[in-house]
This record gives sequence, structure tokens and C-alpha cells, in this order.
Amino acid sequence: MELKDLYREIVNEHNLRPSHKGEMANPDLVLRGVNPSCGDDIILQLKLSADGKIEDAMFSGSGCAISQASVDMMADQIIGKTKEEASELSDVFSGMIKGEITDDDELEDKLDEAASLKDISHMPARVKCALLGWRTMKEILENPEKNEKK
Ligand code: ZN
Repeated sequence: MELKDLYREIVNEHNLRPSHKGEMANPDLVLRGVNPSCGDDIILQLKLSADGKIEDAMFSGSGCAISQASVDMMADQIIGKTKEEASELSDVFSGMIKGEITDDDELEDKLDEAASLKDISHMPARVKCALLGWRTMKEILENPEKNEKK
């Protein structure tokens, strides 16, 4: 299968059957992330364990296929990680999307399926879509005072 087809397939799969979309019962951290240039609008919800790890991650809201697939893949990747590790993954993902990190082995090792979004680095109009979930995650982890939990 060609890489382009594989990328499309993965994005489709995450849109048709997202694993982490919905409302979490008792989130610890909640932050809305908006990408006005496309209309992507998500609410990210994180549950933390007693030892500071991300126990669960979910999102609600709506947006284009890339924004939704990207945040769904992100949730897969950060569950079980510490806040610091998750924040670091956001930097790796953002480095990939901005074309600053290009080592495929490193990207696949750290980002797993999310590495399939690498080609977005050649689609400037979609960069903000792909980054939305990841930058929202980093923002709430590093600035807990922004918590919108009710
Ligand atoms: Zn979008």
C-alpha cells in the first residue's frame, strides 16, 4: 500500500471509529481547543492517576477529519505516560508537523500511528488542524490554572 493511501486509511479509521471520543465521567483537567481557521473545536478531558500519570484521555466537539484523527491518535499515545512525557510527545509531534524532525524511526518509535500524519508538514493549511489536540494537551498540562473543569 502506498504511504499516501495508508495515511488516508488511518485518518478515515479514526474518524469512523474513534476510540476516545465522548464525555468523560470525572475528568481532572479540561480545556477547550479551537482552530478558527478551519472551525475545529474540541474539548479535551484528561484523567490523572494518583502518581501523576495520564490515566485516561477523551475529547468531544467537532472538526475536520485531520483534527479529529490526530487528537484520537494522541489519546492512544499519552495514556499511561507521565505529564512530562506527554508534553514531550507534543513537542515531537509538533516538530514533525513543522518539518523539524524527519527521522522516521524516531517518529514511529515515539508517536506510533500518529507518525502517519508526517506528510501534513507539506500541507500548510492543515498544520493547525493536526496540531490542535496536541497543543491543547500541552497547554493544560503545563498551565493547570487554565483548567475549565466545572
Ligand atoms: Zn481542521
